[in-house]
Amino acid sequence: MNPDLLIEHATVVTMNPDRDTLHDGSVAISGEKIAAVGPAEALRAQFPQAKRIDARGKVVLPGFINAHTHIAMSLQKGVTLAVPDGLYRVMWPVEKALTPEDVYIGALVGGAEALKGGATTVVDHYFYVEQTAKATTELGLRGVLGHTIMSRLGPMVGEKELEAGIDFVRTWKGRHPLVTPWLAPHASDTVAKEWLEKLRQVATEEGVGIHLHLAQSPQEKAYINEQYGVGCVEYLYNMGFLGKDVLAAHCIFIEDHELDLLAKSGTHPLYCPMTHSLGGHPARAWEMMQRGASVLIGTDCVTSNNVMDITGELRIAGAAQKQLTRDSEVMPSARLLEMVTVDAAAAIGMGDRLGSLIPGYLADLIVIDFDGLNTAPAYSLTDNLVYCCNGRDVNTVIVNGKVVVQDHKLLTADESKLVELIEDRGRKLIGKAVKDDADLAWLWRSSKRSEL
Ligand SMILES: [Zn+2]
Repeated sequence: MNPDLLIEHATVVTMNPDRDTLHDGSVAISGEKIAAVGPAEALRAQFPQAKRIDARGKVVLPGFINAHTHIAMSLQKGVTLAVPDGLYRVMWPVEKALTPEDVYIGALVGGAEALKGGATTVVDHYFYVEQTAKATTELGLRGVLGHTIMSRLGPMVGEKELEAGIDFVRTWKGRHPLVTPWLAPHASDTVAKEWLEKLRQVATEEGVGIHLHLAQSPQEKAYINEQYGVGCVEYLYNMGFLGKDVLAAHCIFIEDHELDLLAKSGTHPLYCPMTHSLGGHPARAWEMMQRGASVLIGTDCVTSNNVMDITGELRIAGAAQKQLTRDSEVMPSARLLEMVTVDAAAAIGMGDRLGSLIPGYLADLIVIDFDGLNTAPAYSLTDNLVYCCNGRDVNTVIVNGKVVVQDHKLLTADESKLVELIEDRGRKLIGKAVKDDADLAWLWRSSKRSEL
């Protein structure tokens, strides 16, 4: 085998089963896969012809898996900040004005930001998912993608949304190496029971996962309780909906016994710490983990988080759980790194080929600058990675063997053009939404923030 690329002289955090870390190590990449991981000098001798990236002073890690995103929501960046019930009062009303082209541009921008923040995979669902798939494949970002399906409340409801969600899975299965199509019912209260039952059945038949929101708002909890007399988690558990192939975002408004139902069913709760903090409602992520659940981490969208920075999200994830539990020992740094690599890879059904730097695995990896003011001295590698770094330290990003970010520069799209596009499209979207719905007039205040 003749590798195409050697990333050499780095500290290599393999996340392999022994959790080996190599100092002055190298990773060799051939095609879309990792060819070898080992001491720098040995790999240089073994592969003298390979192109080289000198990663001295840097750390190489498996690319992070951002387990809950809506990358196309870049168009509404930050507009729910300090707005109670922003989902109901802002997101859905604005989304009534969405066009497929908006979603494409939003997804290009959000996907680019996600990549530069250290995510090589996003688990994403949104309306007009074909547009998201177009954007992620152009960017070279791996996506576990779903079409958001709603039967009530949201901006797009009706039978055709259900069909679009199922069609997307059937059309995209095995179609593109970077796209894993999943089903994405929006939430327990916004999708009819019969639809949820049908989607559960289709997921099993097609062998795909399900990505939804669960117990994300007091309104959702109240509605399910009123309709079915139980909590949101219990409702889905009783239906036989939950399982190892289900990723459930937020899980905030739940009863104690429902924490155990998440663990018992194998469901993966998705912890989005910045969104939860800004929304004022913490999730009991550490407690879920102690009860046996495999919790993953996501940034959620920039409407609720404001940035798409999975590397920086780790710091918030640790800090927020320490504060919530009043215990500084919870959420150790090494666990946080596992949650966005090996745990997430297993949850999306790719644990045998993603999430670790192991020969034969897919070459999805990130190179983080680790010789700056913010990281020296590094008495603890994992603590410094989690608590000293953020997405701006991500130097190089490789997905499926292809370099998509190098020396902090996005190679697959023109970044300044993306900024221009999103400024224009975002304002037009908000403008149209305000024109269509007088109750949204106050939003102009947010959308003109750059003039302040
Ligand atoms: Zn979400």
